[in-house]
Amino acid sequence: MKGKILLVEDEAPIREMLGYTLMKEGYTFREAADVEEARPLIADDRPDLLLLDWMLPGMNGADYARRIRNNPDTRDIPIIMLTARGEEADKVRGLDIGADDYITKPFSTRELLARIRAVMRRTKNRDGEGVVSVKGLTLDPVTIRVTVDEQDVDISPTEFRLLHFFITHPERVYTRDQLLDQVWGQNVYVEERTVDVHIRRLRKTLEPYKYNHFIQTVRSVGYRFSTRI
Ligand code: CA
Repeated sequence: MKGKILLVEDEAPIREMLGYTLMKEGYTFREAADVEEARPLIADDRPDLLLLDWMLPGMNGADYARRIRNNPDTRDIPIIMLTARGEEADKVRGLDIGADDYITKPFSTRELLARIRAVMRRTKNRDGEGVVSVKGLTLDPVTIRVTVDEQDVDISPTEFRLLHFFITHPERVYTRDQLLDQVWGQNVYVEERTVDVHIRRLRKTLEPYKYNHFIQTVRSVGYRFSTRI
């Protein structure tokens, strides 16, 4: 079995088309027309991946994604947002509220399947990974939690992934393109400046704890995590 996918989408033809495609690919597929319908399905049988439409009647997809991330029981369910919006700001916002990826309608079946595979590959080892700690900064990939001296640091899932990648690959310089591949996944078409946005946010998150200078800019190349200052 390839995994359980729950689609939350108000347009019946899209549900039908995706249901057909995903089941043909070997996924277990369930569908909901809105958040109200999705809630009991998630509580009942936790999906391995959530395909979540942005524009939904009632509670919209972005607000629902935020709720899922704020609930300890559901916070690590991978989410791909389906969006009709083409604005870069909305895409960044989508990633910022905790979506693992987004895909803009209309999309090809091939593109969607590639993204599903990439997100699942990236997230399936969440349970198996261990806690990493550098100079008092501790990351737990299972709970997606960062602590400094046992104190919780408020961090978004994307910033977490970025920091986790850096901390497990210290002292090496990565270009924006390499970071996109490593942190966002190879089949994701995010613009390079999105990396800069997230680097800025990550530094801001770490600033009160004085870890922000571990994230270093290497001029005209990219970024590096280093505890040597
Ligand atoms: Ca919709």
